[in-house]
Amino acid sequence: MNGLMMDFPLTITGIMQHANRVHGSKEVVSALREGDGYKVHRCTYGDLFKRAGQLANALQSLGVKQGDVLGTLAWNDYRHMEIYYAVCCSGAVVHTVNPRLFEEQLEYIVNHGEDQWLFIDLDFLPLIEKMQDRFPKIKGYILLCDAGTMPDTSLKNVYAYETLMADQPQSFAWPELDEKTASGICYTSGTTGNPKGVVYSHRSTVLISMTGATAPSIGLTEADVVLPVVPMFHVNAWNLPYTCPMVGAKLVLPGPFMGSGQVLAELMDQEKVTASAGVPTVWLGLLEYLRASDTKLATVNTLMVGGAATPKSLMEAFEKEQGIFMMQGWGMTETSPLGTMNGKSPEMDSLSGDEQYQLRLRVGRPTFGVEVRIVDTEGEELPWDGEAAGALQVRGPWICSEYLGIGKTDAHTADGWFDTGDIATVQPSGNVAITDRVKDVIKSGGEWISSNDLENAAVSHPEVAEAGAIGVYHPKWSERPLLCVVPAPGKSPSKESVLATVAEQVAKWWVPEDVVFVESLPHTATGKISKKDLREQFKDYQFP
Ligand code: ADP
Repeated sequence: MNGLMMDFPLTITGIMQHANRVHGSKEVVSALREGDGYKVHRCTYGDLFKRAGQLANALQSLGVKQGDVLGTLAWNDYRHMEIYYAVCCSGAVVHTVNPRLFEEQLEYIVNHGEDQWLFIDLDFLPLIEKMQDRFPKIKGYILLCDAGTMPDTSLKNVYAYETLMADQPQSFAWPELDEKTASGICYTSGTTGNPKGVVYSHRSTVLISMTGATAPSIGLTEADVVLPVVPMFHVNAWNLPYTCPMVGAKLVLPGPFMGSGQVLAELMDQEKVTASAGVPTVWLGLLEYLRASDTKLATVNTLMVGGAATPKSLMEAFEKEQGIFMMQGWGMTETSPLGTMNGKSPEMDSLSGDEQYQLRLRVGRPTFGVEVRIVDTEGEELPWDGEAAGALQVRGPWICSEYLGIGKTDAHTADGWFDTGDIATVQPSGNVAITDRVKDVIKSGGEWISSNDLENAAVSHPEVAEAGAIGVYHPKWSERPLLCVVPAPGKSPSKESVLATVAEQVAKWWVPEDVVFVESLPHTATGKISKKDLREQFKDYQFP
């Protein structure tokens, strides 16, 4: 017997229409570049969705059809939100391009994604002008500006965004889309080989946004004011541009200022932000600013953190100095990205001090909709005993089933799971800890050393700003850990004191063979330490 419920498609158009009717007066605030500083732009969800209608009409007049792919090179602001909705709700697909990629990767993904039009923030105009001959399939460009700020450009078939939509009607006949229709494309950053395209659907996006809003994970409500510091070109800013209008939370978008602790702190204060989301590097930058300026954030209660391992010292600093709960999650481009979330729980509340931090430094339990398992090298499932470490595999309705134009890869197992490339342990309660990425783990004498744990231990030293641990060739052990350390501003810690701090927190044989002090560490386009580049930098290094 089937249930007798309506077969109603889950589409992003539904989010837009709901938010428009129910939360139309809630604000979307954007920081926009002005001279050397910034100005604040304000609109409501109601305004934003009317403009999305105008944009959809404008795109139709340019000949954009359902299924066409339109690329964006843009910051987190209201125009990027309008594009998100106008494009995918009219049945086309938004390809959010990471503008910080190397030119070769950018060329590859725009062509491989078969992008037909590119929306470009003026910050990226020189780059695209330089590269335009490498985009044979692009029909034209839309610059995110108005007639008054439209620059001279060598780009062909180019429009100013505001001019293009100025005379268009606000209402658009949004098509009834099948929920399986593609809504967005995001490429993985391709630490090995070419980047791979992950294609989200309306259904997967609606489902993950609903889960993202529920209590065991992020738990956003209408009372929240949310500042996504994770870029809209990286896994849809963790879906906050969908979740926030869905629940009616006010959205504050930091424009090009994601790396400025000062602007982030000002926006948090002025707009009364309650929750924000970003990678650990962003929070390190914010913390530095807050300390240097002796600023206390009055309204923020939660900082979501993920994308890379969160050091205990960072979590502790926000809690003790700012009274802010830092909630760690785990995910990846292929998991849309929400996989696990370490929200407050009765178990956490029952612990105190160090025990509580030990729990909070794990990445949390799978959110409903994501199943996880760990397997050994033979593919045999390992127990959830908090000890056994194995390859972390996931499945669920917002996990990538195949890559654009490539199909399934080795990561897709024969029995329908996706191998994440991460190594993890799982507690009996389902709480996952990421030990490392398979390709970053340090293999010493046939045993594994977690580079994450070494880094986290190192940054707990008060004079260490950032640390990267890599495996370097060793004649006896095949690899031993080398710790690369960026000293805190104005400090010069000794090798011995750094090693002593690490030794207090890890097994004796894990203690790095050597420490080198560097001015900075290489980062990926998403702000993580690039182990690949670090290994390259130290490929000829020999232990003393
Ligand atoms: P890339 O880093 O290749 O750009 P993703 O952003 O999809 O791609 O990164 C996903 C990876 O980031 C995960 O596979 C995992 O290795 C790492 N990661 C994400 N969240 C965490 C976390 N909380 N702790 C440790 N590692 C994490």
